[in-house]
Amino acid sequence: MSITENLNHIKASIPSNVSLVAVSKTKPVSDLMEAYHAGQRIFGENKIQEMAEKFEVMPKDIQWHMIGHVQRNKVKDMAKFVTLIHGVDSFKLLKEINKQAEKHDRIIDCLLQIKIASEDSKFGMTFENASEITQSSKVLEFKNVRITGVMGMATLTNDEKQIENEFNRLKFAFNALKALQSENNTLNTISMGMSGDYKLAINCGSTMVRVGSSIFGKRN
Ligand SMILES: *Cc1c(COP(=O)(O)O)cnc(C)c1O
Repeated sequence: MSITENLNHIKASIPSNVSLVAVSKTKPVSDLMEAYHAGQRIFGENKIQEMAEKFEVMPKDIQWHMIGHVQRNKVKDMAKFVTLIHGVDSFKLLKEINKQAEKHDRIIDCLLQIKIASEDSKFGMTFENASEITQSSKVLEFKNVRITGVMGMATLTNDEKQIENEFNRLKFAFNALKALQSENNTLNTISMGMSGDYKLAINCGSTMVRVGSSIFGKRN
């Protein structure tokens, strides 16, 4: 099937309150433009350099999401245009995003990446870390970042029960953070679910799915 057909098929299968991030990493601009012409406006990339190059040549009504691991010294390369950073996993990174966003007089939305998988290779912080950050008075002073939710990646496994448990853990963490964040509540996003597990993720409460290969085909 074509990119347009894939996209229409996926859009028809997700509820309207769930946003679809089209994960276009490694794919050429022509592929992204096909998705754009089919109505897609949110694209996710995992390398800042690649995202910045695509931003330069593509229409300016696109929302660019950084879904990969972020090195602090590269934040400056996306601060002028990135809409949402999914993988915020430390206070220091949040502080740097705030600093770079301020230079462009912007507010950048951020998701706290929480480790839900049992694998060691996945980035992310503990729930305790995340709750410290959302309640920190220093973070409340950051005027150029807004924490809007959480992100997580399930273990790469065929065991659906395990994946479901991990998604439920993220949903639970989100609810607990929301309950702790009394004033000024900005939490509204649970980013979980990829090509292989987005339907399960939506059943577990996902509000944002990140789908790549089911739209654009396999990556090399
Ligand atoms: C690559 C990637 C995706 C998309 O993966 P697919 O299996 O191709 O849908 C989603 N989230 C993150 C963080 C990724 O790096």
